[in-house]
Amino acid sequence: MTYDTQNIFAKILRGEIPCTKVYEDDHTIAFMDIMPKADGHTLVVPKAPSVNFLDAEPSTFAPLFSTVQKIARAVKTGMGAEGVVITQFNEAAAGQTVFHLHVHVIPRWEGVALRRHSGQMANVAQLQAHAEKIRAAL
Ligand code: 5GP
Repeated sequence: MTYDTQNIFAKILRGEIPCTKVYEDDHTIAFMDIMPKADGHTLVVPKAPSVNFLDAEPSTFAPLFSTVQKIARAVKTGMGAEGVVITQFNEAAAGQTVFHLHVHVIPRWEGVALRRHSGQMANVAQLQAHAEKIRAAL
């Protein structure tokens, strides 16, 4: 698959569609997943274009995973989570639905099941409230 510059995360990166932003630096951006599997589900996206992990330039990974760690710590503290899952899907057969590389940071609590992947749209006010808690913990 070749990289499609019209994918939804490319549009977010260009500021053409809105997102609930948590963090941004020269190489990465982090924003709330619009269909969260748990409250506080955050996506970390490199600015460099690639379909997924498989075609990315190796130079993408150091800044990307540095931000993933920063966000994972802030999600855990800010959301008062007991644990954090970090996942990343490559190709449709593996569950990838948006074809610009991204990493999921999902807070977990004992006994709280995850919601369905790409399931239900969240309320924007709720996403903003979660983003605020995460930002405060950065
Ligand atoms: P994938 O299945 O590709 O790993 O995950 C894509 C993720 O992007 C899904 O969890 C989905 O809920 C989320 N998503 C899809 N469209 C949008 C959007 O327009 N904005 C945001 N913030 N998240 C999106």
